[in-house]
Amino acid sequence: MKISVIGTGYVGTVSAACFAELGHEVICVDVDRSKIDMINSGIPPIHEEGLPELLKKHAGKKLSATSDYGLAIMNSEVSFICVGTPSDSEGNIDVGIVKAASSSLGDSLRKKKGYHVIVVKSTVVPETTEKIVLPIIEKHSGKHQGEFGIAMNPEFLREGRAVHDFMHPDKIVVGSLDKKSGDIVASLYNGLKCEVTRTNPRTAEMIKYVNNAFLATKISFANEVGNICKELGIDTYEVMSAVGKDFRIGPHFLNSGAGFGGSCFPKDVKALIGKAKEIGYEPQLLKSVIAINEGQPARMVLLLKNKLGSLEGKNIAVLGLAFKNDTDDIRESRSIPVIKELLDEGARVSAYDPMANENMKKLYSGIGYYSSAADALRGAEACLIMTEWDEFRSLNKEFDVMENRLVIDGRHILVKPGKDIEYVGLCW
Ligand code: NAD
Repeated sequence: MKISVIGTGYVGTVSAACFAELGHEVICVDVDRSKIDMINSGIPPIHEEGLPELLKKHAGKKLSATSDYGLAIMNSEVSFICVGTPSDSEGNIDVGIVKAASSSLGDSLRKKKGYHVIVVKSTVVPETTEKIVLPIIEKHSGKHQGEFGIAMNPEFLREGRAVHDFMHPDKIVVGSLDKKSGDIVASLYNGLKCEVTRTNPRTAEMIKYVNNAFLATKISFANEVGNICKELGIDTYEVMSAVGKDFRIGPHFLNSGAGFGGSCFPKDVKALIGKAKEIGYEPQLLKSVIAINEGQPARMVLLLKNKLGSLEGKNIAVLGLAFKNDTDDIRESRSIPVIKELLDEGARVSAYDPMANENMKKLYSGIGYYSSAADALRGAEACLIMTEWDEFRSLNKEFDVMENRLVIDGRHILVKPGKDIEYVGLCW
């Protein structure tokens, strides 16, 4: 089929490239000219394993990009809205970009003959597709639902494994108001070995939030248990490894540490809290999930201060800036509040990340950035490990260049820290 993808960030670019790989003809739309040029040249605007190969293969053939909504709508039968849905200043979802994209889609749909399906792929709180997107499209197109289709198809990919996750999904959810548009969206995934769950749009929207809120809850639960274990001198990893053997619990997302970040978990849990409050429900558990998560970075700095005393003028190495390994994405990275607190305490920060140095420079230009862990560690009086990059697992001799060999591990990642290292785990 012919597909247009609105917004070429993580979700849009990966979806576009993977739909092209599944045999569809895809045209991307973005307001950012530089991303359009990159995609048309076969260069991914984001770091994702497998994405360069897919763009190289399909750009200029099955895949193109434009800033012209009209051109994209005229040349496609289905449009996916993949724009950002950030938090507003209160933590609630800001659907301003979704509204803008819906208006532009509606304007272009007005001039189009023939059936067209609009699919919301952005993560939006329940009722958004039906009560916000649909009325905007109807108003701007002058058409009624039925003359065009509307559906909600949430995305579950993990950054760093996004292409793999798109091509090997464990669930595909399609919510639609009518069977015809749902059938069309479900058919786009033909070729993938995965059952398609069919439902209505608000349930599809809720499934995405519950998925992320549950994973975030598991992490905050593990962190709370870890904080208690640390005080009791119990290895929380030993505890969780046994607990995770219970098939009702499972072994994943029970690692305690510096907490979750990224563009999804914090924002989505907060958005669900906001939606619950809007309907008069006070979501106690979800609020605690956020509160525990926000406390973990401060615990890293507290451990450091307990060891070093005042941080004024001290050189602290921060290893890992991305919110997780295998990505350059720093959105809501736990290293951000840690660096802020270090700077507030008067410390000097030497940072290293295999991919994310450049992105962090845009936020903190005044700290030292290095091209290897060893360079960042030189002369440091302590080191904080913030991201679970594979290359940090084997760090050992690199600590020799530190002024004082104190390592606080926020990710339980060091395998053999070395004998003359003072190794401190955040929750173990
Ligand atoms: P992003 O910020 O990386 O990308 C959004 C893109 O939309 C940008 O390229 C931006 O230039 C473009 N854009 C902004 N306004 C536009 C407009 N009016 N018309 C066309 N393009 C416009 O966002 P993302 O991380 O890809 O997330 C997109 C959505 O998917 C969000 O709702 C997010 O919650 C959800 N999601 C993200 C992930 C993830 O891992 N990043 C996973 C699942 C779901």
